[in-house]
Amino acid sequence: MSTVLPPRLRDDCFAMPQGVAWVPVDEALGLLRDRLTPIVRQLTAKPEVGQVLAGDVHARRSNPPRPNSAVDGYGFAFAATGQGVQRLPLVDGRAAAGQPFEGAVPAGQAVRILTGAILPEGVDTVVLEEDTALDGATVVFDGPVKPRANTRKAGEDVVEGALALPKGHRLRAPDLALLSALGVAEVPVYAPLRVGVLSTGDEIIGDPATRAEPHQIYDANRPMLLALARGWGFDAVDLGHAPDDAEQIAARLDHAADAVDVVLTSGGASAGDEDHVSRLLRERGNLTSWRIALKPGRPLALAMWRGVPVFGLPGNPVAALVCALVFGRPALSLMSGAGWVTPQGFTAPAAFTKSKKPGRREYLRAQLGPEGAEVFKSEGSGRISGLSWATGLVELPDGALEVTPGTLVTFYPYAAFGMQ
Ligand code: AMP
Ligand code: MG
Repeated sequence: MSTVLPPRLRDDCFAMPQGVAWVPVDEALGLLRDRLTPIVRQLTAKPEVGQVLAGDVHARRSNPPRPNSAVDGYGFAFAATGQGVQRLPLVDGRAAAGQPFEGAVPAGQAVRILTGAILPEGVDTVVLEEDTALDGATVVFDGPVKPRANTRKAGEDVVEGALALPKGHRLRAPDLALLSALGVAEVPVYAPLRVGVLSTGDEIIGDPATRAEPHQIYDANRPMLLALARGWGFDAVDLGHAPDDAEQIAARLDHAADAVDVVLTSGGASAGDEDHVSRLLRERGNLTSWRIALKPGRPLALAMWRGVPVFGLPGNPVAALVCALVFGRPALSLMSGAGWVTPQGFTAPAAFTKSKKPGRREYLRAQLGPEGAEVFKSEGSGRISGLSWATGLVELPDGALEVTPGTLVTFYPYAAFGMQ
Protein backbone atom coordinates (compact mmCIF):
# COMPACT_ATOMS: atom_id res chain seq x y z
CA MET A 1 0.00 0.00 0.00
CA SER A 2 1.30 3.44 -0.75
CA THR A 3 0.06 6.87 0.20
CA VAL A 4 1.01 10.22 -1.23
CA LEU A 5 2.42 12.51 1.41
CA PRO A 6 0.98 16.02 1.45
CA PRO A 7 1.82 18.78 0.99
CA ARG A 8 3.00 19.02 -2.59
CA LEU A 9 5.22 21.96 -3.40
CA ARG A 10 3.45 25.22 -4.00
CA ASP A 11 3.61 26.55 -7.54
CA ASP A 12 5.50 29.66 -6.51
CA CYS A 13 7.88 27.87 -4.19
CA PHE A 14 10.95 28.93 -6.12
CA ALA A 15 10.07 32.62 -6.31
CA MET A 16 12.89 35.01 -5.49
CA PRO A 17 12.43 38.28 -3.68
CA GLN A 18 12.09 41.23 -6.09
CA GLY A 19 15.31 42.76 -7.26
CA VAL A 20 17.60 39.90 -6.38
CA ALA A 21 20.40 39.77 -8.91
CA TRP A 22 23.12 37.37 -7.90
CA VAL A 23 22.27 34.87 -5.21
CA PRO A 24 25.19 33.63 -3.10
CA VAL A 25 25.49 29.84 -3.03
CA ASP A 26 24.65 29.56 0.67
CA GLU A 27 21.56 31.70 0.25
CA ALA A 28 20.39 29.59 -2.69
CA LEU A 29 20.93 26.47 -0.61
CA GLY A 30 19.00 27.99 2.28
CA LEU A 31 16.08 28.86 0.01
CA LEU A 32 15.94 25.36 -1.44
CA ARG A 33 16.09 23.86 2.01
CA ASP A 34 13.24 26.02 3.25
CA ARG A 35 10.95 25.57 0.33
CA LEU A 36 11.27 21.94 -0.67
CA THR A 37 9.34 19.21 1.08
CA PRO A 38 9.45 15.41 0.86
CA ILE A 39 7.27 14.26 -2.01
CA VAL A 40 7.50 10.53 -1.73
CA ARG A 41 5.17 7.65 -1.07
CA GLN A 42 5.47 5.39 1.93
CA LEU A 43 5.47 1.61 1.98
CA THR A 44 6.50 -1.32 4.12
CA ALA A 45 9.42 -3.42 2.94
CA LYS A 46 12.17 -5.80 3.91
CA PRO A 47 15.17 -3.60 4.83
CA GLU A 48 17.59 -3.03 1.93
CA VAL A 49 20.66 -0.84 1.52
CA GLY A 50 19.73 2.60 0.16
CA GLN A 51 16.18 2.67 1.48
CA VAL A 52 15.15 5.70 3.52
CA LEU A 53 13.15 5.06 6.68
CA ALA A 54 9.72 6.66 6.62
CA GLY A 55 9.31 6.32 10.38
CA ASP A 56 11.28 5.64 13.54
CA VAL A 57 12.16 1.96 13.92
CA HIS A 58 12.16 0.41 17.40
CA ALA A 59 13.82 -2.76 18.67
CA ARG A 60 11.46 -5.73 18.74
CA ARG A 61 13.86 -7.52 21.05
CA SER A 62 16.87 -6.62 23.18
CA ASN A 63 20.41 -7.15 22.00
CA PRO A 64 21.61 -9.33 23.53
CA PRO A 65 18.23 -10.83 24.47
CA ARG A 66 19.64 -12.52 27.58
CA PRO A 67 22.83 -12.10 29.64
CA ASN A 68 25.58 -14.17 28.03
CA SER A 69 29.27 -14.97 28.17
CA ALA A 70 31.78 -12.76 26.35
CA VAL A 71 34.52 -15.42 26.43
CA ASP A 72 35.22 -19.14 26.59
CA GLY A 73 35.77 -20.10 30.24
CA TYR A 74 33.94 -21.13 33.40
CA GLY A 75 30.84 -19.54 34.90
CA PHE A 76 29.79 -19.36 38.55
CA ALA A 77 28.17 -17.12 41.17
CA PHE A 78 30.48 -14.25 42.15
CA ALA A 79 29.10 -14.21 45.70
CA ALA A 80 30.61 -17.62 46.50
CA THR A 81 34.16 -16.58 45.50
CA GLY A 82 36.80 -14.60 47.37
CA GLN A 83 40.51 -13.78 47.68
CA GLY A 84 43.29 -16.23 46.81
CA VAL A 85 43.11 -19.52 44.96
CA GLN A 86 39.58 -20.56 44.10
CA ARG A 87 38.63 -24.22 43.56
CA LEU A 88 35.15 -24.75 42.16
CA PRO A 89 33.83 -28.23 41.32
CA LEU A 90 32.38 -28.42 37.81
CA VAL A 91 28.80 -29.46 37.22
CA ASP A 92 28.11 -31.95 34.43
CA GLY A 93 27.33 -30.50 31.04
CA ARG A 94 28.16 -27.15 29.49
CA ALA A 95 26.63 -23.93 28.23
CA ALA A 96 27.32 -23.09 24.59
CA ALA A 97 25.94 -20.54 22.10
CA GLY A 98 22.59 -21.88 20.95
CA GLN A 99 22.81 -24.78 23.45
CA PRO A 100 21.73 -23.46 26.82
CA PHE A 101 22.63 -25.31 30.01
CA GLU A 102 19.44 -26.77 31.45
CA GLY A 103 19.14 -26.36 35.18
CA ALA A 104 20.89 -24.27 37.80
CA VAL A 105 24.53 -24.07 38.89
CA PRO A 106 24.73 -24.27 42.70
CA ALA A 107 26.67 -21.52 44.51
CA GLY A 108 30.31 -22.57 44.97
CA GLN A 109 30.30 -24.66 41.75
CA ALA A 110 31.14 -23.75 38.16
CA VAL A 111 30.05 -24.69 34.65
CA ARG A 112 32.01 -24.87 31.44
CA ILE A 113 30.74 -21.97 29.30
CA LEU A 114 31.51 -20.79 25.77
CA THR A 115 31.26 -17.39 24.09
CA GLY A 116 27.69 -16.34 23.36
CA ALA A 117 26.11 -18.91 25.69
CA ILE A 118 23.36 -17.46 27.87
CA LEU A 119 24.30 -17.49 31.55
CA PRO A 120 22.66 -20.46 33.29
CA GLU A 121 20.67 -19.84 36.46
CA GLY A 122 23.15 -19.31 39.32
CA VAL A 123 25.88 -17.86 37.06
CA ASP A 124 26.69 -14.13 36.98
CA THR A 125 30.46 -14.15 36.44
CA VAL A 126 32.85 -15.89 34.05
CA VAL A 127 36.58 -16.53 34.35
CA LEU A 128 38.58 -16.65 31.14
CA GLU A 129 39.74 -20.12 30.19
CA GLU A 130 43.38 -18.92 29.89
CA ASP A 131 43.30 -17.80 33.55
CA THR A 132 42.34 -21.25 34.86
CA ALA A 133 43.73 -24.73 35.38
CA LEU A 134 41.75 -27.95 35.64
CA ASP A 135 42.24 -30.31 38.54
CA GLY A 136 40.13 -33.29 37.57
CA ALA A 137 36.54 -32.05 37.65
CA THR A 138 37.47 -28.86 39.51
CA VAL A 139 38.40 -25.52 37.99
CA VAL A 140 41.16 -23.56 39.72
CA PHE A 141 41.89 -19.83 39.39
CA ASP A 142 43.17 -16.84 41.34
CA GLY A 143 40.74 -14.63 43.17
CA PRO A 144 39.44 -12.08 43.56
CA VAL A 145 37.51 -11.83 40.29
CA LYS A 146 35.32 -8.86 39.42
CA PRO A 147 31.56 -9.33 39.72
CA ARG A 148 29.96 -9.99 36.30
CA ALA A 149 33.43 -10.21 34.69
CA ASN A 150 33.41 -11.42 31.08
CA THR A 151 29.64 -11.28 30.76
CA ARG A 152 27.31 -9.16 28.67
CA LYS A 153 24.15 -7.77 30.21
CA ALA A 154 20.79 -8.33 28.53
CA GLY A 155 20.03 -5.26 26.43
CA GLU A 156 23.44 -3.70 27.04
CA ASP A 157 23.53 -2.83 23.35
CA VAL A 158 19.87 -2.03 22.69
CA VAL A 159 16.85 -2.58 24.94
CA GLU A 160 13.60 -3.92 23.50
CA GLY A 161 11.36 -1.03 22.50
CA ALA A 162 14.23 1.49 22.23
CA LEU A 163 14.73 3.61 19.13
CA ALA A 164 16.93 1.61 16.76
CA LEU A 165 17.07 3.94 13.76
CA PRO A 166 15.32 7.28 13.20
CA LYS A 167 12.96 8.38 10.47
CA GLY A 168 14.89 9.72 7.48
CA HIS A 169 17.88 7.43 7.99
CA ARG A 170 19.27 5.89 4.80
CA LEU A 171 20.07 2.23 5.36
CA ARG A 172 23.64 0.97 4.95
CA ALA A 173 25.10 -2.52 5.42
CA PRO A 174 25.66 -2.19 9.22
CA ASP A 175 22.05 -1.04 9.65
CA LEU A 176 20.89 -4.33 8.15
CA ALA A 177 22.91 -6.11 10.85
CA LEU A 178 21.32 -3.99 13.56
CA LEU A 179 17.75 -4.41 12.30
CA SER A 180 18.14 -8.16 11.92
CA ALA A 181 19.68 -8.49 15.39
CA LEU A 182 16.76 -6.55 16.84
CA GLY A 183 14.22 -8.83 15.17
CA VAL A 184 13.00 -6.20 12.71
CA ALA A 185 11.87 -7.94 9.52
CA GLU A 186 10.01 -5.08 7.89
CA VAL A 187 10.44 -1.32 8.01
CA PRO A 188 8.44 1.68 6.81
CA VAL A 189 10.34 3.15 3.86
CA TYR A 190 9.83 5.78 1.23
CA ALA A 191 9.42 4.60 -2.31
CA PRO A 192 12.59 5.76 -4.07
CA LEU A 193 12.31 9.26 -5.49
CA ARG A 194 11.76 9.06 -9.25
CA VAL A 195 14.20 11.42 -10.91
CA GLY A 196 13.70 12.11 -14.61
CA VAL A 197 16.67 13.30 -16.67
CA LEU A 198 16.18 15.21 -19.92
CA SER A 199 18.82 16.66 -22.23
CA THR A 200 18.03 19.50 -24.59
CA GLY A 201 19.77 20.99 -27.59
CA ASP A 202 19.61 20.75 -31.39
CA GLU A 203 23.26 19.72 -31.43
CA ILE A 204 22.85 16.76 -29.07
CA ILE A 205 22.92 13.15 -30.28
CA GLY A 206 21.65 10.75 -27.70
CA ASP A 207 23.47 7.56 -28.52
CA PRO A 208 27.23 7.38 -29.09
CA ALA A 209 26.65 4.21 -31.13
CA THR A 210 25.09 6.34 -33.86
CA ARG A 211 26.94 8.55 -36.35
CA ALA A 212 27.36 12.22 -35.51
CA GLU A 213 27.73 15.03 -38.08
CA PRO A 214 30.42 17.62 -37.43
CA HIS A 215 27.90 20.06 -35.95
CA GLN A 216 26.58 17.47 -33.56
CA ILE A 217 27.89 16.33 -30.17
CA TYR A 218 27.10 13.31 -28.11
CA ASP A 219 25.05 13.71 -24.97
CA ALA A 220 27.44 13.85 -22.03
CA ASN A 221 25.05 15.10 -19.37
CA ARG A 222 22.29 12.54 -19.50
CA PRO A 223 24.38 9.43 -18.74
CA MET A 224 26.17 11.38 -16.00
CA LEU A 225 23.02 12.70 -14.33
CA LEU A 226 21.23 9.35 -14.61
CA ALA A 227 24.18 7.60 -12.98
CA LEU A 228 24.39 10.21 -10.24
CA ALA A 229 20.69 9.83 -9.46
CA ARG A 230 21.00 6.04 -9.39
CA GLY A 231 24.06 6.25 -7.15
CA TRP A 232 22.12 8.45 -4.74
CA GLY A 233 19.58 5.69 -4.37
CA PHE A 234 16.85 7.15 -6.58
CA ASP A 235 14.91 5.66 -9.45
CA ALA A 236 16.60 7.30 -12.42
CA VAL A 237 14.22 7.69 -15.33
CA ASP A 238 15.66 8.42 -18.76
CA LEU A 239 13.50 11.08 -20.40
CA GLY A 240 15.70 11.11 -23.48
CA HIS A 241 16.74 14.19 -25.36
CA ALA A 242 14.68 16.93 -26.95
CA PRO A 243 15.74 19.40 -29.63
CA ASP A 244 15.46 23.13 -28.99
CA ASP A 245 11.77 23.14 -29.71
CA ALA A 246 9.25 24.30 -27.15
CA GLU A 247 6.53 21.83 -28.16
CA GLN A 248 8.84 18.85 -28.04
CA ILE A 249 10.28 19.87 -24.69
CA ALA A 250 6.74 20.46 -23.39
CA ALA A 251 5.69 16.98 -24.55
CA ARG A 252 8.63 15.43 -22.67
CA LEU A 253 7.77 17.38 -19.54
CA ASP A 254 4.11 16.36 -19.80
CA HIS A 255 5.18 12.74 -19.95
CA ALA A 256 7.57 13.35 -17.05
CA ALA A 257 4.84 14.91 -14.91
CA ASP A 258 2.99 11.58 -14.98
CA ALA A 259 6.04 9.38 -14.52
CA VAL A 260 8.47 11.04 -12.09
CA ASP A 261 8.65 13.11 -8.90
CA VAL A 262 11.28 15.60 -10.07
CA VAL A 263 12.98 16.45 -13.37
CA LEU A 264 16.58 17.43 -14.07
CA THR A 265 17.06 19.05 -17.45
CA SER A 266 20.34 20.24 -18.88
CA GLY A 267 20.93 22.86 -21.51
CA GLY A 268 18.88 25.83 -22.59
CA ALA A 269 18.62 27.20 -19.07
CA SER A 270 20.06 30.69 -19.61
CA ALA A 271 18.19 33.64 -21.00
CA GLY A 272 19.54 33.51 -24.57
CA ASP A 273 17.63 33.12 -27.88
CA GLU A 274 18.11 29.40 -27.99
CA ASP A 275 17.35 28.83 -24.37
CA HIS A 276 14.08 27.07 -24.96
CA VAL A 277 13.88 25.39 -21.61
CA SER A 278 13.87 28.64 -19.68
CA ARG A 279 11.53 30.30 -22.19
CA LEU A 280 9.05 27.46 -22.00
CA LEU A 281 9.21 27.28 -18.23
CA ARG A 282 8.79 31.03 -17.98
CA GLU A 283 5.67 30.89 -20.12
CA ARG A 284 4.09 27.77 -18.70
CA GLY A 285 5.89 26.58 -15.63
CA ASN A 286 6.27 29.43 -13.18
CA LEU A 287 9.96 29.71 -13.87
CA THR A 288 12.35 31.37 -11.53
CA SER A 289 15.86 31.74 -12.85
CA TRP A 290 18.29 31.87 -10.03
CA ARG A 291 21.43 33.65 -11.09
CA ILE A 292 23.76 32.03 -8.65
CA ALA A 293 27.08 33.60 -7.79
CA LEU A 294 28.87 30.42 -8.71
CA LYS A 295 31.52 29.34 -11.16
CA PRO A 296 30.97 27.11 -13.01
CA GLY A 297 27.23 27.24 -12.98
CA ARG A 298 25.36 30.49 -12.73
CA PRO A 299 21.87 30.07 -14.15
CA LEU A 300 19.81 27.52 -12.35
CA ALA A 301 16.26 27.43 -13.67
CA LEU A 302 13.72 26.25 -11.15
CA ALA A 303 10.12 25.72 -12.10
CA MET A 304 7.01 23.67 -11.45
CA TRP A 305 5.62 21.74 -14.38
CA ARG A 306 2.16 20.40 -13.59
CA GLY A 307 3.10 20.09 -9.95
CA VAL A 308 6.50 18.51 -10.57
CA PRO A 309 9.65 20.48 -9.73
CA VAL A 310 12.04 20.98 -12.64
CA PHE A 311 15.69 21.81 -12.06
CA GLY A 312 17.12 23.35 -15.21
CA LEU A 313 20.85 22.71 -15.02
CA PRO A 314 23.41 24.42 -17.27
CA GLY A 315 24.34 22.65 -20.49
CA ASN A 316 28.07 22.68 -19.99
CA PRO A 317 28.88 19.30 -18.50
CA VAL A 318 31.25 20.74 -15.90
CA ALA A 319 28.66 23.26 -14.76
CA ALA A 320 25.93 20.62 -14.93
CA LEU A 321 27.92 18.35 -12.62
CA VAL A 322 28.83 21.09 -10.15
CA CYS A 323 25.23 22.30 -9.96
CA ALA A 324 23.96 18.74 -9.61
CA LEU A 325 26.38 18.04 -6.75
CA VAL A 326 26.04 21.36 -4.94
CA PHE A 327 22.29 21.96 -5.38
CA GLY A 328 20.75 18.84 -6.86
CA ARG A 329 21.98 16.38 -4.28
CA PRO A 330 20.74 18.09 -1.11
CA ALA A 331 17.50 19.11 -2.82
CA LEU A 332 16.77 15.61 -4.09
CA SER A 333 17.77 14.09 -0.77
CA LEU A 334 15.30 16.33 1.02
CA MET A 335 12.56 15.47 -1.48
CA SER A 336 13.34 11.77 -1.09
CA GLY A 337 12.63 11.95 2.65
CA ALA A 338 16.28 11.48 3.65
CA GLY A 339 16.64 15.10 4.75
CA TRP A 340 18.98 17.85 3.66
CA VAL A 341 22.60 16.74 3.31
CA THR A 342 25.72 18.85 3.59
CA PRO A 343 28.90 17.43 2.06
CA GLN A 344 31.83 16.97 4.40
CA GLY A 345 35.00 18.44 2.98
CA PHE A 346 38.38 18.87 4.59
CA THR A 347 41.15 21.39 4.55
CA ALA A 348 44.19 20.73 2.37
CA PRO A 349 47.14 22.86 1.29
CA ALA A 350 46.80 24.16 -2.24
CA ALA A 351 49.33 22.87 -4.76
CA PHE A 352 48.39 25.63 -7.22
CA THR A 353 48.36 29.36 -7.68
CA LYS A 354 45.26 31.40 -8.40
CA SER A 355 44.08 34.93 -7.98
CA LYS A 356 40.39 34.60 -7.26
CA LYS A 357 38.03 37.52 -7.82
CA PRO A 358 35.40 38.43 -5.24
CA GLY A 359 31.68 38.03 -5.77
CA ARG A 360 31.17 34.37 -6.47
CA ARG A 361 32.05 30.97 -5.15
CA GLU A 362 34.21 28.75 -7.35
CA TYR A 363 34.59 25.02 -7.62
CA LEU A 364 37.71 23.67 -9.30
CA ARG A 365 38.22 20.14 -10.51
CA ALA A 366 40.88 18.82 -8.17
CA GLN A 367 42.97 15.88 -7.09
CA LEU A 368 45.00 15.28 -3.97
CA GLY A 369 48.71 14.90 -4.69
CA PRO A 370 51.80 14.71 -2.47
CA GLU A 371 51.90 18.52 -2.14
CA GLY A 372 48.18 18.96 -1.55
CA ALA A 373 45.20 19.81 -3.74
CA GLU A 374 46.10 20.03 -7.42
CA VAL A 375 43.68 21.55 -9.89
CA PHE A 376 42.97 20.69 -13.50
CA LYS A 377 45.09 22.53 -16.01
CA SER A 378 42.10 24.34 -17.51
CA GLU A 379 39.03 25.93 -15.98
CA GLY A 380 37.13 25.68 -19.29
CA SER A 381 33.69 24.41 -18.44
CA GLY A 382 33.50 22.29 -21.58
CA ARG A 383 36.55 20.27 -20.54
CA ILE A 384 34.83 17.05 -19.64
CA SER A 385 38.12 15.17 -19.29
CA GLY A 386 38.88 17.29 -16.22
CA LEU A 387 35.86 15.83 -14.48
CA SER A 388 37.27 12.36 -14.99
CA TRP A 389 40.78 13.43 -14.06
CA ALA A 390 39.52 14.88 -10.79
CA THR A 391 38.80 12.96 -7.61
CA GLY A 392 36.91 15.87 -6.10
CA LEU A 393 36.37 19.61 -6.08
CA VAL A 394 38.23 22.45 -4.41
CA GLU A 395 35.86 25.08 -3.10
CA LEU A 396 37.04 28.68 -3.08
CA PRO A 397 34.99 31.05 -0.91
CA ASP A 398 32.75 33.84 -2.22
CA GLY A 399 35.26 36.58 -1.46
CA ALA A 400 38.58 37.37 -3.13
CA LEU A 401 41.48 35.05 -2.40
CA GLU A 402 45.11 34.87 -3.43
CA VAL A 403 45.98 31.21 -3.50
CA THR A 404 49.63 30.24 -3.51
CA PRO A 405 51.12 26.82 -2.81
CA GLY A 406 50.40 26.01 0.82
CA THR A 407 47.28 28.20 1.14
CA LEU A 408 44.65 26.14 2.93
CA VAL A 409 41.65 25.37 0.75
CA THR A 410 38.61 23.13 1.18
CA PHE A 411 38.65 19.88 -0.76
CA TYR A 412 35.52 17.80 -1.23
CA PRO A 413 36.22 14.29 -2.46
CA TYR A 414 33.60 13.18 -4.96
CA ALA A 415 32.50 10.69 -2.32
CA ALA A 416 31.48 13.63 -0.09
CA PHE A 417 28.76 14.30 -2.63
CA GLY A 418 27.67 10.67 -2.50
CA MET A 419 29.24 10.00 -5.88
CA GLN A 420 30.24 6.43 -6.58
P1 AMP B 1 23.33 25.58 -23.28
O1 AMP B 1 23.17 25.67 -21.81
O2 AMP B 1 22.21 24.85 -23.93
O3 AMP B 1 23.56 26.92 -23.88
O4 AMP B 1 24.63 24.74 -23.54
C1 AMP B 1 25.90 25.19 -23.13
C2 AMP B 1 26.98 24.32 -23.72
O5 AMP B 1 26.84 23.00 -23.23
C3 AMP B 1 26.90 24.21 -25.25
O6 AMP B 1 28.22 24.16 -25.74
C4 AMP B 1 26.19 22.90 -25.45
O7 AMP B 1 26.50 22.30 -26.69
C5 AMP B 1 26.72 22.07 -24.29
N1 AMP B 1 25.77 21.04 -23.92
C6 AMP B 1 24.47 21.21 -23.65
N2 AMP B 1 23.90 20.05 -23.32
C7 AMP B 1 24.87 19.11 -23.41
C8 AMP B 1 24.90 17.71 -23.22
N3 AMP B 1 23.80 17.04 -22.85
N4 AMP B 1 26.07 17.06 -23.39
C9 AMP B 1 27.19 17.74 -23.74
N5 AMP B 1 27.22 19.06 -23.92
C10 AMP B 1 26.07 19.75 -23.78
MG1 MG C 1 21.47 24.43 -25.79
